[in-house]
Amino acid sequence: MGLTTSMDEGTRKALEDLCLKVLTFVNKQPGREARLDQINDQTIGRLSLAWSYDLDTARGQEATPIVVDGRLYTTSAWSKVQAFDAVSGRLLWQYDPQVPMATGVKACCDVINRGAAYWDGHVYVGTLDGRLISLDAKTGRVAWSVQTTDPASKLTITGAPRIVKGRVIIGNGGAELGARGYVSAYDAATGKKLWRFYTVPGEPGKPDGEVSDKPLAELATKTWNGQWWTTRSGGGGGTVWDSMAYDPVLDLLYVGVGNASVWNKGVRAPGDGDNLFVGSILALRPETGEYVWHYQNTPGDKWDYTSTQHMILTTLRIGGQDRKVLMQAPKNGYFYIIDRATGKLISAEPYIPLNWSDGIDLATGRPRIKPEAHYDVTGKPWIALPGSMGGHNWQPMSYDPATGLVYIPAQEIGGLYQNDPDYTSRPIGPNLGIDINGLSLPDDEALKAQVMQSIRGYLLAWDPVQQKPAWRVPNPGFLNGGVLSTAGNLVFQGDMNGGFNAYDARTGRKLWSFDAQDTILAAPVTYSVKGRQYVTVLVGFGGAIGTFGGEVSWKNGLPRHNRSRVLTFALDARAPALPPVSRDIAEPIPTPPAQFADDATIRHGSYLYLNTCMTCHGGVARSAGLVPDLRRSAVIGDKQAFYAVVGEGLLAERGMVGFAKNYSPADIEAIRAFIVSRANKDFSAR
Ligand code: CA
Repeated sequence: MGLTTSMDEGTRKALEDLCLKVLTFVNKQPGREARLDQINDQTIGRLSLAWSYDLDTARGQEATPIVVDGRLYTTSAWSKVQAFDAVSGRLLWQYDPQVPMATGVKACCDVINRGAAYWDGHVYVGTLDGRLISLDAKTGRVAWSVQTTDPASKLTITGAPRIVKGRVIIGNGGAELGARGYVSAYDAATGKKLWRFYTVPGEPGKPDGEVSDKPLAELATKTWNGQWWTTRSGGGGGTVWDSMAYDPVLDLLYVGVGNASVWNKGVRAPGDGDNLFVGSILALRPETGEYVWHYQNTPGDKWDYTSTQHMILTTLRIGGQDRKVLMQAPKNGYFYIIDRATGKLISAEPYIPLNWSDGIDLATGRPRIKPEAHYDVTGKPWIALPGSMGGHNWQPMSYDPATGLVYIPAQEIGGLYQNDPDYTSRPIGPNLGIDINGLSLPDDEALKAQVMQSIRGYLLAWDPVQQKPAWRVPNPGFLNGGVLSTAGNLVFQGDMNGGFNAYDARTGRKLWSFDAQDTILAAPVTYSVKGRQYVTVLVGFGGAIGTFGGEVSWKNGLPRHNRSRVLTFALDARAPALPPVSRDIAEPIPTPPAQFADDATIRHGSYLYLNTCMTCHGGVARSAGLVPDLRRSAVIGDKQAFYAVVGEGLLAERGMVGFAKNYSPADIEAIRAFIVSRANKDFSAR
């Protein structure tokens, strides 16, 4: 399986020659820049642990905490909310919205949450199952709760709400499953819905009765062909799952819009057409949701190139003029500077190596897309740089006005796109419209090693005015943490292998590091209470590499057990050291059951596994430890027991829903055959 099937010899050779950068799909908040300088490039050596708190969910942690009046509010996996005394780390309250574990199957990239919002004595959180909840900030008691999604839909919430003018703005995710995206505003005091903006059109002639009806009818609908609104075609996508920003002077709310659904445009909306507003930035009036302008980074997206990445608003001196700009480094690999009053492109240059386009036409603002990138049209498999993980994902970047540099958690991870002649829409789990074989690592060990060597991540300091790199520091892994820069000439970033690091903002020299004992994906925050500066970061392996990227993380020396924590640092602090841990080594696979099926059945099972099971259980059934490793499962040796779990949903309350709506009993038996085959291969290779 993996890259070695459904591909001709020439393509495979091209892939090897390119030393390709494979992988995976997925996906992924505020200024990220703080004018605090007690902790600085001179005092950094005195920075030490002030307090730590062990979170109660062993899943990915992606939230950036917020601090108000000496209280630190954060969220954790499963949409839980915590309030801490920001100085002592004492837990003041925790709120658990009791998200049903079966909701996990709708999460493309782990059951994570990226943070809470605060307004007028209340803390706001969006839950994985689509609720928006207002909590009393002192007690954690629910003030109001509204359902923002149709529970029968594929939509989930992982992003942080934003508050603008007493309105709570919230989007959602689900464009890997088949969903139509939107962003909504609710009255912060009452939870009353005020407006909703659909980012892609619905069925023509059937308006939604929302503020988006007019711009969709006038601008967007004509950019779509086919029957994109139907289940098979994917619903259009364009989910608003993370980044938003607000400019109080221009009174504009900027909304980052995600990829199209399904990915494959040939299945979604064949032919020409930009498919507005996928892969775009939208500027809306926050009070009404009224459309003001849009800029589409990726017309007709077919590569999962979201524009949901973090947006930074600042003033830059460009060509002798002060320009009010919006800066974004979306997945597609270009660094964009946009006039945020008009939406007109000022400049765009690649911040990582890319191959889908040979530049952006400044007159039209459009990318020149290479013909071979249109895999849906050519019918030929194509290796894209970047792949669906993007040149930069949800991990926030930051801007330091003192250095004039933007600090980007950049990565080079390619991806293989190819049509799937057998594509069929499935009720449960992912629907991409492509041959998902390209999203898994090759089985061949040498080729796999080559792919792994080609994948890299680094902290990139980018000069936005010159549109060129200032410096680059390699990270030990390829998916790393969000970034914080401060007035102390410091850039803080955690990494995939558990280092929490501080760099000289001018030079990139590493000045300080702390072993957090587990992967850091989240961005740090800094704050001051009673004259003392603190830095806080969430630790916790998960997200995309914790779920479907399992087999990659295994080979990267990662801890196998998630150790989710809140860590807070200050100068000369004296918290006890973290309890020592041994670097985890995976237990050997127990003796697997004997194979019972023929090769064709195993191949069929592999195809079905990759399309549905991989999202949680890992590309080659090698879970990274967040969800059960199927090669070790007791039920793979028993046809009836396996069907009771995988078909009928015996363990649905524990998150493992039944897939009988997707697959026949014979299909599920083929999936079992594939997992048994995997277990036997890995057992004999031990
Ligand atoms: Ca996506």
